[in-house]
Amino acid sequence: MNARRDFLHKLTYSAMALPFLPSLWTFDSPEVNGILYDGPILRVAIMGLGGYGTRVAEAMQDCKKAKLVGVISGTPAKIEAWQAKYNIPEGNCYNYENFDNIKDNPEIDAVYVITPNALHHDQVIRVAKAGKHVICEKPMALNAEEGAEMVDACAQANVKLLVGYRMHFEPKTLEVINMRKNGDFGKILFFQGQCGFRVGDPNQWRLDKELAGGGSLMDIGIYAINGARYMVGEEPVWVTAQETKTDTVKFKEGVDETIQFQLGFPSGAVASCLSTYNMNYLDRFFLNGEEGFAEMQPSTGYGPIEGRSHKGELTQPHITHQTLQMEEMAGIILSENKPIVPVDGEEGLKDLKIIDAIYKACETGEKLNLTL
Ligand code: NAD
Repeated sequence: MNARRDFLHKLTYSAMALPFLPSLWTFDSPEVNGILYDGPILRVAIMGLGGYGTRVAEAMQDCKKAKLVGVISGTPAKIEAWQAKYNIPEGNCYNYENFDNIKDNPEIDAVYVITPNALHHDQVIRVAKAGKHVICEKPMALNAEEGAEMVDACAQANVKLLVGYRMHFEPKTLEVINMRKNGDFGKILFFQGQCGFRVGDPNQWRLDKELAGGGSLMDIGIYAINGARYMVGEEPVWVTAQETKTDTVKFKEGVDETIQFQLGFPSGAVASCLSTYNMNYLDRFFLNGEEGFAEMQPSTGYGPIEGRSHKGELTQPHITHQTLQMEEMAGIILSENKPIVPVDGEEGLKDLKIIDAIYKACETGEKLNLTL
């Protein structure tokens, strides 16, 4: 069995285990009814052919509803290599100066922006003005003001804006959300999200305030923010936060090394989270309710995600996150499918509002009210 058939076989198997998952888990794969998928296909151009763009492109090879058809890059050698690897025609290759011309290209439906954080705002707005749907990596922008402008620009251009929140499609994560919705945990009391890694090369853009917009919180702490919201199932109404720094050379002014923050929810539930660029093995979610718990470790890495609840191990299968994400996003864009946890620009904007408040709370030491 080749890799693609093997993947489809796993999907078919998984469909039986995951009745609550939307479109991907339908029985229309060749394994089941003997015919190839002939529904709509989202034709995607990737902007930014770096580490994560490469991972997404690889994963998309196993999608049936999404296909890589174009690239946008400032490096001609990379474009050439991707053209050869993914059979991308010359007419679907752009650079950062001329990609507005994508508006005249009927072969591209959507652009996936996978560049450093500070570039997302302008690039997303340019793609929207070119009339193409946009998928933008997290964090969607540097702050809520930028995020709101992006949401408005996409609404005005009548294109969809989605954010690369791959965990919103991850089977074990969805199982915990499903359990919470079913009342399995009773009243939710507490969430703990711990997200971090030791960042390497001191010269990378992630440690450059201009390009990253901050430090660990923008990059990895955002998973704890977003996770607190989808695990608790409410929007936070207040935040407190504290920053600590052990290395002021590596983590310059405006680039946070470690931040602890707390969120309060309308029901009275609270979240306690840690975001850091200075600790490895930190990828853990814990959800506590009056009648049960769930814990996941790893909780947001590329997987396999592992976890358990008071009822036992989470046994949902691991599927490459980016394959699932792109398959589901194709359904959202082309067929108006509704994801279980939103992945639209409004969702990205909520996280940016919380990020703004966390940075402000670090500065002032105040407890701040949130209106999302
Ligand atoms: P990377 O450094 O590996 O790649 C960035 C790409 O952008 C490179 O190809 C680089 O050439 C290009 N680029 C264009 N203009 C640039 C400029 N002015 N300065 C620097 N690079 C420029 O970074 P990455 O890890 O691929 O991250 C890209 C985005 O993807 C970030 O927003 C990051 O947060 C996000 N990301 C998301 C996930 C996820 O799991 N969802 C994982 C990793 C990264």
